[in-house]
Order: sequence, then structure tokens, then C-alpha cells
Amino acid sequence: MNRSQLCVTVTAPSTAELRRQRDQVTDADLVELRIDTVADPDVAGALAGRRHPVIVTCRASWEGGGFKGSEEERRRLLRDALAEGAEYVDIEFSAGFDDLIAETGGRRLVLSSHDFDAVPADLPERIRAMRATGAEVVKIAGKASCLSDCLRFLGLNQNGHHQGRAVLIAMGDAGLSTRVLASRFGSPWTYAGTLEQIGQVSARTLVGTYRFRSVSPTTTLFGLTGSPIGHSVSPAMHNAAFRAAGLDAVYLPLPAQNPDDFVTFAKGIGLAGASVTIPFKVALAERLDHVDAAAAKIGAINTIRTNHGRWEGRNTDGAGFLQPLMERGIPLRGLRASLLGAGGSARAVAAALVAEGAEVTVHARDPQKAAQVARLTGAAVGVWPPPEGWELLVNCTPIGMHPKTGTTPYAAPLTGRYVYDLVYNPAETQLMKDAAAAGCQTIGGLEMLVGQAVEQFRWWTGVQPEVSAMRQAARERLAEFQHS
Ligand code: NAP
Repeated sequence: MNRSQLCVTVTAPSTAELRRQRDQVTDADLVELRIDTVADPDVAGALAGRRHPVIVTCRASWEGGGFKGSEEERRRLLRDALAEGAEYVDIEFSAGFDDLIAETGGRRLVLSSHDFDAVPADLPERIRAMRATGAEVVKIAGKASCLSDCLRFLGLNQNGHHQGRAVLIAMGDAGLSTRVLASRFGSPWTYAGTLEQIGQVSARTLVGTYRFRSVSPTTTLFGLTGSPIGHSVSPAMHNAAFRAAGLDAVYLPLPAQNPDDFVTFAKGIGLAGASVTIPFKVALAERLDHVDAAAAKIGAINTIRTNHGRWEGRNTDGAGFLQPLMERGIPLRGLRASLLGAGGSARAVAAALVAEGAEVTVHARDPQKAAQVARLTGAAVGVWPPPEGWELLVNCTPIGMHPKTGTTPYAAPLTGRYVYDLVYNPAETQLMKDAAAAGCQTIGGLEMLVGQAVEQFRWWTGVQPEVSAMRQAARERLAEFQHS
């Protein structure tokens, strides 16, 4: 099985710092030393005492790099790197360093081509032309402006296109799949590092979160689509569950430009399933072969999967919401529940509670939206701000969410029995603090978040996930956001 290797890119302001950074790299097969980023390029100094094989790169500013010296100087540095025994030296295709190619016969050369604006239109021809130079490795990186741009790289490394395999990278957030699934794209290696502006992720994220070391060409792919999704904890939760269950699967953020972009990518790459968040919960439901009755009722899905070529959708928010209530043995039949907010989550929560026989009232600042949710779910409409009289209060608004952690959606005395806040960041909101002080039993949004993910995982894989691994991963990821 052809597994891709991991190359960690190291940049630094000085050669001494570059060496220090280089020596801190632990989990890598190769280290790329970007000597164009140092103020005092010294090849021998950068290579001395190295523990990993290296690629020495010195990109000029016109190539998107940091080197401001002359082309002659740059050529000399790269020649020095070869003479000092660097395993590879990276030269740009358009730099015209034909003399270096001729001198080496292409051995130990990575011939690269970068387009920071788009994925080049002539990819197959370009790879062929680059291979024809005799360079040992060819690398092409192009900026993906949408998810489906990644598909342009798929299949280029199959036999018949050229003699050897090329490193293929779609730059930008939309291109993450070409890095994590480097094996699927046929790349001999991919790059990790701190160059976030071109979509690089750290080796820790690639290996720790996205399980790069165990991803093969046949690893099953799941993902999350919507916008924005950069701060989602779902990749951490699902990847932790795949790891704990020993399943050969990986879950990626898939920032689609629009629903059609997602569908094109999903079909092209063979996506097995996905979580769906705003703003695609309704639009994607309309593009599926089948949506289950509960999701159809509220008009929104949050999960899709492929089943023998058919695309199916459902909504696990309701089941995820109910799980902590069931676990606590809270009787729902006849329970007076007041919901704050009339958005997507309020729909799922209202439908789930009504189905369990609760007496649900929807309160929202926009009475028309409250009425719409009530009509769809069989709930009643209440006034805003919501008065006392409930037994279960559910916050389905973002009020209290990080960073406005001191705010609460409820000003009246908390005289009911249970308070459930869907907000999960922070884990204990102001509303929950107030409710606990008033003697209510409280439930935080993290439990629902994990609950709906557990439902998704089961629906995709048929396997009961390790809930503690998912909860732990979610907590760690949330803590990272709070400290970033
Ligand atoms: P949504 O569709 O945008 O709906 C938000 C609702 O809150 C709308 O009715 C909105 O009213 C109302 N609202 C917003 N700010 C308000 C304010 N200052 N005063 C009064 N009402 C306000 O969002 P959603 O998807 O339902 O999500 C709501 C919250 O639940 C978010 O914090 C989300 O992170 C959380 N959530 C958690 C889970 C979980 O698993 N724990 C799952 C889903 C959602 P307008 O329409 O008038 O703006």
C-alpha cells in the first residue's frame, strides 16, 4: 500500500534559528529548510548535524518566497546544498535553472511549480513537461478557490500520465484533502508547517487530528460542510472516535463555496458521509435522494450518507438533544418546556420534545419566526421576553456564547426544575450558573453536541462510538479555541 510521507517545512529569521526549529521536528520523514526566509543564508550551517533527510528550498520573492538576492547568488546556494549532501534541492520550474538540472541529471531535484491564484488549467501537460526535464521529483501546487478544485489533481498520478509520481497540492483551506489524503492523490509526500496563508497545517494536526500516518489510498472519507466551519469541534470528535474504534476512516472540514461545490466534490472523491451545518442545512436536503420524515418535517438536515449510490439525509440534533434528558431519567410526557429562539436548533428541539409528549412553547424576539417553528412542530407560541411557568427552559439562541460569556437570554426568576443551554462554549454559561444558583438542574450544550455526533457516527458506520473519546476530544478542542 503506497502511503505518503510527511515533510515538515521550517522557516526562521536566522540560520541558527532555522537549525533550532529543524531539530525540534520529531514526526517527519523529511524536513524542508526554507533558507530563503533567513537573513543570513548559510547552507553548511543549516545542514550541519541534521537528523532528518532534507529538502533545501530557496524561493525568490518573484516565486512567492523570501529571497531577495541575485539569481546567481541563489544558484550558488542551491549548488552548495547539493555539494553539502542535501537529500533534495527544490527549484522552481519557471526559474530556468537548466544548468542545475543538466549538472545533476535531475537527481536529488524537486522541480516545483506554484500558482498562488488558481489551479493551473494545463495540469497534465505541465506535469509531463516538468517530468521531461529528468527531475527526480515533480511538485505542483495551485490555489484552490473551491472544494471541487481539488478534484483536478485526482488521477494525475495514475500510471500512464508520466513516469513517476508528483507531489500534488491544492493550496488554501479548500485544499486540505490533497494534504491529508496525499496517498489517495498519489503524492510521494505532503508538507506540514506554519504557512497557514497557503493552507498548511501543523504536523501535530495532520498526524494527531487527521491521522495522516494511517491514511491510505482506500481510507473512507467523511467530512463537515457549511460556513464558517473553522472553529468546529466535529473533526476532533469524529476522528477521535474513528481512532478509538480502529476504523480506517478520516473526517475533514470541507469548506464548500456553495451546495453544488460540495456535491461535485463529494461525488468526485467518493465521500461516504458528512455533517452539514449552516448555511447548507436546507439547500443540501433538496439535493438528496431521500430525507427521513423527521428531518423533512423541520425542513433541515444535519447529516448525510451514501447508501448503495443513493444520498440520504437526516437530522440528529433532536436525538442528540434528547439523549442527556433520557440519561437523567427526566420524564418528558406532559413536561412544560419553554424554548428561547426560533432558529434551526429550536426547530429540531421543539420537534423532538413534542414527539416525546412535552407541552412546548416557543419564545422568540420575532413572533413570526416563533409562529413558523410552532406550526412546523406542533408547539405553541409564547411571548418575548419569556415569563415564568416552565418546568424545562431551553436556550436555543447564541446568547451567552464565547466571547460574550457574561450575557444571559433569561432575566426573570429561574423557578423551574431544569435548564438546558444549547450553547457549548463556554461549557458552563451564565444562564447555567444562574440556574444552578437558583436550584435548577442544568444541562450544557456539550452533551447535545456529543450526542448528535454519536448518532451520526452510528448511522455512518453501524458502530457504537466510544463516547468518552468524543467528549474528551471536544473539550480539548474547545480549550484550544479559548486559548487561541
Ligand atoms: P440560528 O438558526 O441562527 O437561530 C438563532 C435564534 O436565536 C434565532 O431565533 C435568533 O433570532 C435568536 N437570537 C439571536 N440573538 C438573539 C438575541 N440577542 N436576542 C434574542 N434572540 C436572539 O442558530 P441555531 O443554529 O438555532 O443555534 C443557536 C445556538 O445553539 C448557537 O449558539 C449554536 O451554537 C447552538 N447549537 C448547539 C448545538 C449543540 O449540539 N449543542 C446544536 C445546534 C446549535 P433572530 O432570528 O431574530 O435573529
